[in-house]
Amino acid sequence: MNSVYPGVRPGQGEQAESLLQAAEWAQRGAERASERGTFCVGGVLLGPAGELLAESSNHVLCDGAVCDPTAHGERQLVDWYFDQSGLPPAQSCTIVSTLDPCMMCAGALLYGGFRVLTLALDPDAGVNARGDFSFDTLPPELRPDAAARFAYLGVEGVRPSFGCDLSVSADFEGRSYALFRDSLNRVQSLVHGRPRVELRSQNWSHEEAALVQDGRSVAVANGRGHTRTALMELARLGPFQDLTLIQKKGPDLSPLSIMELGAYGSCMEGPARGSWLYQTPGCPADQLARQLERMPRFYREVVGIRIQAAGAGTD
Ligand SMILES: [Zn+2]
Repeated sequence: MNSVYPGVRPGQGEQAESLLQAAEWAQRGAERASERGTFCVGGVLLGPAGELLAESSNHVLCDGAVCDPTAHGERQLVDWYFDQSGLPPAQSCTIVSTLDPCMMCAGALLYGGFRVLTLALDPDAGVNARGDFSFDTLPPELRPDAAARFAYLGVEGVRPSFGCDLSVSADFEGRSYALFRDSLNRVQSLVHGRPRVELRSQNWSHEEAALVQDGRSVAVANGRGHTRTALMELARLGPFQDLTLIQKKGPDLSPLSIMELGAYGSCMEGPARGSWLYQTPGCPADQLARQLERMPRFYREVVGIRIQAAGAGTD
């Protein structure tokens, strides 16, 4: 399976009568993911008139094995979108997801400029982890854009809507979150325990990022446009175990870097043991440190992302 969006199915001309119907379609994707044994999250991509452009389901696991640790529903829809031609502008399209986007997906969605409608919250890894719609998991300069684009369905008797005036029953929302919650620990431990992908020595010259073992590069990558950055290409090989990830240019505070910080967490799904180094800083080290401190709990306490300049000493 070479596609970076194996869980995406193009629409067949279906038209959503309302965003609530689209949320039910997204829930169908989560149920397909459930049957596959992976994280139970689904999503749909709607055009400006509610036309179903594509639907997706999480594809981190397939056939009981790790397929692509970055194959979350929303990230796949973003990559699929950028591979098509003739679709409406992203700013006029809406992605409806059963779960609050993680930091990887949130970065990809902000980069693309999509509108987003979310059903259930994710207090561990969601961009709205605190549930207060402050988006304080993001750098301050990205928060207004997130607040303008990311909407949340209300849940009757539980919480108000945000960015829309639609609500669902507590039963509907609870079913979506329960499906995800049931899948969480099992899938995380399978990803974290995935045997290291077989890699051979490769020369690293002009490529933007590499995985290094004992001083030798064993995987190198360049960005392939839009959200397919060099780091994303390498993240599909994760978890990195004893490998060191080196970027020529380190993370900054852009949506693509937020996506990469999130993807690093998603490809580990547990404590990071290797190092993440950069040769040239993407932003001042104190700004990057502050961003790591404001990431949701999963990235801070479970993964423990640490990034430093190459040659800055051992960690
Ligand atoms: Zn995600």
